[in-house]
Amino acid sequence: MKTITITKPFNAHVHFRSGQMMRDVVPYTAQHYFGGVCMGNLPGDAVIDTIEKNLAYRVGIMAIAPFFKPTVPLMVTSQLLENCKTIIPAAKKLGIRVYKFIPGGLTTNGAPGLSLFDFYTPVFREFFELLIENDCVFSCHFEVGLDLINDKELDPRCQEKHAIRFLQYLLENFPKLIIAVEHASSKELIQFIKRLPRRYQIGVTLAIHHALILYRMVADRKGNFLDSRLYCKPIAKYPKDREAVIEAMFSGDPRFFLGTDSAPHFLEAKILKATPAAGIFSDVISLQKYAELFGAHGKLKYFENFASIFGPEFYGTRPSNEKITLIKETEKIPELIAGIPVFLGGGETAWRVKN
Ligand SMILES: [Zn+2]
Repeated sequence: MKTITITKPFNAHVHFRSGQMMRDVVPYTAQHYFGGVCMGNLPGDAVIDTIEKNLAYRVGIMAIAPFFKPTVPLMVTSQLLENCKTIIPAAKKLGIRVYKFIPGGLTTNGAPGLSLFDFYTPVFREFFELLIENDCVFSCHFEVGLDLINDKELDPRCQEKHAIRFLQYLLENFPKLIIAVEHASSKELIQFIKRLPRRYQIGVTLAIHHALILYRMVADRKGNFLDSRLYCKPIAKYPKDREAVIEAMFSGDPRFFLGTDSAPHFLEAKILKATPAAGIFSDVISLQKYAELFGAHGKLKYFENFASIFGPEFYGTRPSNEKITLIKETEKIPELIAGIPVFLGGGETAWRVKN
């Protein structure tokens, strides 16, 4: 196949940040995706955890890309949890029904003081009950940094598989909760989800970088960085994990869909700091790279559902009426855009989007 025309895709996981960086990156997502779930994990008090901030962030995105349809989650913070009884029903009336949780300390701007262990507390239990009552989605970064039993820090390669028990806890105790598992990147988590009965309402985003890179391209065995531009959380893992991500993409299983987790950081933050920022800016070429992957494996017939249909269906929005055409022609990938390193910059994609 030399060209493919599909319904315009939906990016179920993207970070736009704020200010000038947001103005620089939004157009790249909006040119290939008709809408997306736009994460508001802004630093400090800017975090999108009130209805007012949520609505303003949505307006800000649409001022840059008027035809893009942003779904902006409310970020789960201690403050949001305290007020969840009033916020959740009020937000629902305004069409806000996605809640995103990033445990603190794990990646860029997680919720200070909160971890997956807090799921067992009364405040989280009440929160989950309210989400169910109000037909809301709980979107979660499932990683845990601490092995409590042995009281030691977990290697980043194991942090996702150790978090499976928290997902299991949610399924057992809140079986009606609608759960978005973000950027699944390990064989263990993907297999756990594949085996779940279909009565659970679960959706899983899969990022292109987890289908392309491996831990050994990012860091050495001791954890010293080899290419910190490829550092993201969850970190890329082993060939078996990458295989599991790719297989899930091609499975035709509607629980698995596209979410790039495109997450810009300036070059200085990626390479010049002792601890590089976690996140990969991929939306310049994410759609082209997914097409390349599906094409290289002879799986293009599964591409449209994965990229454009299953995600909107999970979030209860309609797929796009527009179409997009990709052509099997190479495109050079820029190294930097507005000071932000681009995923696989300097290389090329085997497919490009027709203008
Ligand atoms: Zn993310």
